[in-house]
Amino acid sequence: MSHAHKTDITIGTPEGADWVNQMNEGFRAHQLSPSSWSRYEQCPRKYWLSRQRLPRKASMPAALGNAVHNSVEDICNLVIDDRDDDEVGWMPPTAKAILDRHWKIEKDGFMATPRHPRWKDELITQAHDGLVGALNILCSKSLLPQTKLSELTISDWKYVQSIVLANEGTLVSECGRLMGRLDLLVADLDENGQSRGWIVADLKTGRPPVGALDPKVSRQLRFYRDLLKRNNPDHPPIRAEGWYSANQTIHEATGDNVIDDAFVAWEGMRPSSEPLEATPGERTCGFCEWKAWCPAWWNATAEGILPSSGAFRDEVVQIIRYDSEGGAGLIERMAPVDESGNVSPSPKRFGFTVKDQAKNQLDELISDGYEGILFIGSARVSSKVLHLGDWSEIMPWQPISESPTPV
Ligand code: SF4
Repeated sequence: MSHAHKTDITIGTPEGADWVNQMNEGFRAHQLSPSSWSRYEQCPRKYWLSRQRLPRKASMPAALGNAVHNSVEDICNLVIDDRDDDEVGWMPPTAKAILDRHWKIEKDGFMATPRHPRWKDELITQAHDGLVGALNILCSKSLLPQTKLSELTISDWKYVQSIVLANEGTLVSECGRLMGRLDLLVADLDENGQSRGWIVADLKTGRPPVGALDPKVSRQLRFYRDLLKRNNPDHPPIRAEGWYSANQTIHEATGDNVIDDAFVAWEGMRPSSEPLEATPGERTCGFCEWKAWCPAWWNATAEGILPSSGAFRDEVVQIIRYDSEGGAGLIERMAPVDESGNVSPSPKRFGFTVKDQAKNQLDELISDGYEGILFIGSARVSSKVLHLGDWSEIMPWQPISESPTPV
């Protein structure tokens, strides 16, 4: 049973559209996605740095999310036409095998990324629960009488597949300026199993909201909704939902159309050689992966705008003494002298210990002959000693004040 003509739905942009031609003529297109928009809004400099082809940092939550998303996609696309409709007990082992495969792909990619923390193999249990949660939500959207995956028949899953109108597509506006990765587009069934519209769903493997959706998540969901509406003038009613696999809850995003705001943000996100404005803040800078290239947060720390204390700390330092065998030494904090990231010695010195991943990074820098200033990310502080390990990063301090190739 089919609920919509899948081929009638436009999620991408046909070749030959205006923006493709503009790019061919040398127009340097840039695209706004919900994540780049959010980065730009948090701190324009963060967005600008993210575009400078700097080494990215692998993250465990992102790897877990990818493994779950890609597994859901594969399970939605399973070819099961020739299987016995009544077969049961096939889904749990199939889902596990698919997840294991994606887990390995993620792990390989993670370990091959030079900037990576410790890989947590034990989180596969959480990924598995997330996948089961996502599949359960899909079954409930299909109004299946029971949603126990071990009892799911081939015929049940064919039915679920029939309500999935698209999965993992790229939504692009006709002008090419706005884009987003769409997780799932499913038929919105009424209690009689009749389609009354579409649901654009974003699968969330992170912490479910308590109460209302986070405004950024709400905007992201509405962005998909509104882009889909724009690309499909004859669309039926569309709902935008966040599907939280951890506790299998569904949160609908409602509210105004966000496309006009997205175009305004797009204008500000144009490529430039000059760095965009930095807006340091405790939360914004907290998890910023571009600190080793940004002078603003270090100046803000020196000025007291950002806190310089806490159980974990970032530092800009030079090494005074280091005993590689013992994994300990003495460092000196460097003081900012200008807006470009130049620094000078200060009287502040700290003992430090280093092991595991951070030690490998430091030893490698030293064996490469690097003697310059260092950025230390996430040092654990206890009794005025900085402790560096798998949770930390040690990199050259390389603030960027101009982009050689604006992208
Ligand atoms: S460290 Fe802070 S100020 Fe610098 S780019 Fe990141 S968020 Fe912006």
